[in-house]
Amino acid sequence: MTKLMLPEAPRANGYYIDGKWFDGENRDRLDRVSPGHGITVSSVALCTEQDTDIAVQAARRAFEDVWADTPGAERGRILIRSAQGIRDRLEEMAYWETLETGKPISQARAEIEGAADHYEAAAGMARMVTGETHNNYGTGMLGLVTKQPIGVVGLITPWNFPFIVLAERLPFILAAGCSVVLKPSEFTSTTSLIFADILTKAGLPKGVYNVVTGLGPVVGEALTAHKDVDMVSFTGSLAVGERVLSASKSNLKKVGLELGGKNPQIVFADADLDDAADGIVFGLCFNAGQCCVSGSRLIVEASVVEEFKEIVLAKLAKVRIGDPLSEDIQMGAIVTPQHHQKILAYIKQGIAEGAKLECGGEAMDVSGGEFIAPTLFSGVSRDMVIARDEIFGPVLSVLNFETQEEAIALALDTEYGLAASVWSKNIDKALGTIRKMRAGRCWVNTTIVGGPEQPMGGFKRSGNGRECGMMGVEEYMEVKSIHIALGDREHWVD
Ligand code: NAD
Repeated sequence: MTKLMLPEAPRANGYYIDGKWFDGENRDRLDRVSPGHGITVSSVALCTEQDTDIAVQAARRAFEDVWADTPGAERGRILIRSAQGIRDRLEEMAYWETLETGKPISQARAEIEGAADHYEAAAGMARMVTGETHNNYGTGMLGLVTKQPIGVVGLITPWNFPFIVLAERLPFILAAGCSVVLKPSEFTSTTSLIFADILTKAGLPKGVYNVVTGLGPVVGEALTAHKDVDMVSFTGSLAVGERVLSASKSNLKKVGLELGGKNPQIVFADADLDDAADGIVFGLCFNAGQCCVSGSRLIVEASVVEEFKEIVLAKLAKVRIGDPLSEDIQMGAIVTPQHHQKILAYIKQGIAEGAKLECGGEAMDVSGGEFIAPTLFSGVSRDMVIARDEIFGPVLSVLNFETQEEAIALALDTEYGLAASVWSKNIDKALGTIRKMRAGRCWVNTTIVGGPEQPMGGFKRSGNGRECGMMGVEEYMEVKSIHIALGDREHWVD
């Protein structure tokens, strides 16, 4: 395969409303520096509150005039064609995803391919929305429960998985019959914009998918507070999620929140330690630890902790870190210099709190970008900041336990509830432990796997609502209860 080159000139992105492109020439712009290379690769238009309002109006028209009443089968056909459109442009989309996020190109390709899969799965679901009948009220009454699309959805997405996070939401929203105004992360807007052309070619009516680029406190806040937006689906940090919830009070819109995590990985002594170590290393290094479901708290049975740590350290030393455009790279860069500094500050704090740095702990000088070596801390106690905060980088904290009850208590000792993994070959222990987890995505003897079929979301302060699967369609629907009187009415007035 020929080596991918950096773009000759930065790509200047426009924005997309009501089926039309706007070049954003008279808007301020934000440059995007490739985290893996340190050079500017693209820029986005910083849209305004007024642009957001125009997009919401377009989405409202499209919803009322066309999309809400488009049959599920037709929505499904459009989703199928859009999946093909993604596959046709997979290389181009993976390239931009890598340049803007710093993730390895092989991982970006897998994510774009996985996204296409979500559109195909949701296409079937578009045809399968059903309700209930109540046929047991006697001869005079029939009951129906129907579902209908909630309306205009404001969708706000993060930078860590720009296109797959969109795919875990958008096809289900479209399958439900809602229209969308999307505000992608200002760092990673390109693939969401390319997708506008793919959807148009697939036959999506104008105004159903609108992309307004720009800053969270401007576009994101305008969308969240907008009185004609019926629901906001927000994926991002806990702090911004709380702001979204406050702004949504303007019209008491429904809010779906997918937030952060500090996810436990429990390893029992009877696990296949080599498999578990492989999973732990993958869970730490995948997306350079900038992953909401990263297994960032490693909770290991004390009798095997030393042996296990050595296996993990040996595997970490073999992870291929480097230029994200190189084909054989497994771990790429950190999203921004600011985030890079934040992770290094957490590492310093871990050392200051008395945890033992087993490996990593420093920046790496690779291909001109922002890199951090995978970092393992042992001797971590549950009250240390590195055991509690979502660091969102390749930093793993090891805690020990003696009993199953202690392992469960340690795992649950977090404000978050996004994901949890358990490693054990004893089925009673593995399932007994996983059933106690308070987390929306759980794994036994594996980690960070899943697809469009099963719902995902958070317990506790990791959020509310569910994405994907049939629940992910119903999330974007209102439920209507109908009672139908049959036959002669027994009159109330004499
Ligand atoms: P972030 O909260 O900084 O930003 C997320 C999005 O919100 C961006 O588009 C941003 O521009 C926008 N935003 C910022 N301020 C806003 C405001 N006042 N009103 C409305 N929108 C605003 O998060 P991030 O740094 O992009 O992403 C990392 C976070 O996302 C992590 O905490 C991670 O755990 C979380 N995440 C969660 C999931 C999940 O499914 N649970 C998936 C991916 C990422």
